[in-house]
Amino acid sequence: MLNKTFFADYELILFDRDGVINEVPKSPSRYILNDSSLILNPVILSLIVELQLDSKKVAVVTNQQCVGKGLISLYDLNLIHKKIDEAIIKLGGYSLKFYICTHLESLDCKCRKPKPGLLELVRNDFMVSKDKTIYIGDSPSDEEAAKCFGIKFLEYKYKEVNSL
Ligand SMILES: [Mg+2]
Ligand SMILES: [Zn+2]
Repeated sequence: MLNKTFFADYELILFDRDGVINEVPKSPSRYILNDSSLILNPVILSLIVELQLDSKKVAVVTNQQCVGKGLISLYDLNLIHKKIDEAIIKLGGYSLKFYICTHLESLDCKCRKPKPGLLELVRNDFMVSKDKTIYIGDSPSDEEAAKCFGIKFLEYKYKEVNSL
């Protein structure tokens, strides 16, 4: 069961966004390009709030190449993240810090998962040891980034949208 007892040994709990915090749209691009197509996962939202109220540090680590592709502006991406925050605050939690790679894969940046660049940024901000950090994601690139960086990984997949 995913609850605060499960995370007792961790100080910093990191979440992937798509497929974990929200459903992955079945549209060909699989990108969420506006906040109206955001379908949140109540299980993970409640978990995040439970962890926050248990004094854990929580953040989101996500690839959003859709920005680099020009499919969505940073402004609109922030609106999507504001909507996630609002849902968490409504449940009694606090707003999240989002670590985002917006780059095109072809740029070969250091932060696009499966590279561990974003995880390194998080560590520099939170200063939590690697053995007290866990990353929860739904894809092999999440697992690879976590392993490469040397933190624990937990696979979690939220159900997909059946129709749009
Ligand atoms: Mg994902
Ligand atoms: Zn990047």
